[in-house]
Amino acid sequence: MARIVQKYGGTSVGDVDRIKNVARRIKAMCDAGHEMVVVVSARSGVTNELLARARAVCAVPSERELDMLLATGEQETIALTAMAMHGIGVPAVSYTGAQAGIFTDKVHTKAKIKTINAKPIEKDLKQGNVVIVAGFQGINEEGQITTLGRGGSDLTAIALAAALKADKCEIFTDVDGVYTADPRVVKNACMLPEISYDEMLELASSGSKVMQSRSVELAKKYGVVFEVRSSFNQNPGTIVKEEVAYMEKVVVRGVAVDKDQAKVIVSNIADKPGSAAKVFRALSDSNVNVDMIVQNVGRHGVANLTFTVPQSETARAVAALDPVLVAIGGGQVTVHEHIAKLSVVGVGMKTHSGVAATLFQALADAGINIELISTSEIKISIVIDQARADEAARVTHTAFKLDKA
Ligand code: ASP
Ligand code: MG
Repeated sequence: MARIVQKYGGTSVGDVDRIKNVARRIKAMCDAGHEMVVVVSARSGVTNELLARARAVCAVPSERELDMLLATGEQETIALTAMAMHGIGVPAVSYTGAQAGIFTDKVHTKAKIKTINAKPIEKDLKQGNVVIVAGFQGINEEGQITTLGRGGSDLTAIALAAALKADKCEIFTDVDGVYTADPRVVKNACMLPEISYDEMLELASSGSKVMQSRSVELAKKYGVVFEVRSSFNQNPGTIVKEEVAYMEKVVVRGVAVDKDQAKVIVSNIADKPGSAAKVFRALSDSNVNVDMIVQNVGRHGVANLTFTVPQSETARAVAALDPVLVAIGGGQVTVHEHIAKLSVVGVGMKTHSGVAATLFQALADAGINIELISTSEIKISIVIDQARADEAARVTHTAFKLDKA
């Protein structure tokens, strides 16, 4: 007998038939003698719909009220899932985040989990109940409902798996697992049987959105091994765990493309100590998330700073930079939105050389120009023209022989 935490995402519980399918899957695990804690998301589309309604009644809705509203999406699914379990003769009880003892900080709409009181769930498990928990929500010390940020049901599942010392944590979704590239773009992309936390994090931050990054960080911190798999079949998925030596044999694990970035160039600024500091301080004060940064120093005492930001933050970035340019004695800002960031990721890069050369050659052979380059220990990212991004993903995938992964 094992203690298992499962999480079913929005598409997996998208309508009543799918909820019944989830109930049957949980029953099969109970029949095999396992203790089951199940986290569910809101039905797919519901959270977006609720957000749209909030904005329709008030341009800038209060964050407390937003949490109050968004938490109802998951509350619907927990009750329906518990009822579906009863319908097939399995004792089950649904819990909101607060009832499940999930305590968060006070930050509405993106709260962090502080502690979990596992006692109520433990008690129900002992009594033979399946416990169905609302994902994405908790309660703060003042008794207010909070939510954990978009995609936060993953976080609930990982945190519960850690708090309940679960033997297994399974994240069910509408894809079979983590792939070497987006299978919609790269036809011969392969599903990975396993991947390290760090690779998964780099892939997530590079544009492959299988899971919320914060959940992967939490899993790494607490050593929660989890599996990403499909709720529509019985196939095993991708196991995400701490890196082990043999993982380094694979140099590149995957290719990711992010088309939601924009390139910002701050040109002709004074080449002296403090210029870059002032530029990035202003961006950070305006909560702009800067990614790749490159500086070139020109001749006449001036420098150019180029960096990327999420497209949704370009207007904020430009507004933040205007006063800075005045303060540092001039400069111009230009924005390029038709770019894409392509990244290759793999822990094997720590010990193998030649990754950059292979990547750049593949792009050169395809006649694709590289605009920016940045690297980390296990990742190389480049910025290219958005119109060539899919093709770039395909030639890179082939160059690293990922179709044979
Ligand atoms: N329902 C929330 C969202 O759509 C949380 C989740 O699905 O994980 O972001
Ligand atoms: Mg979701």
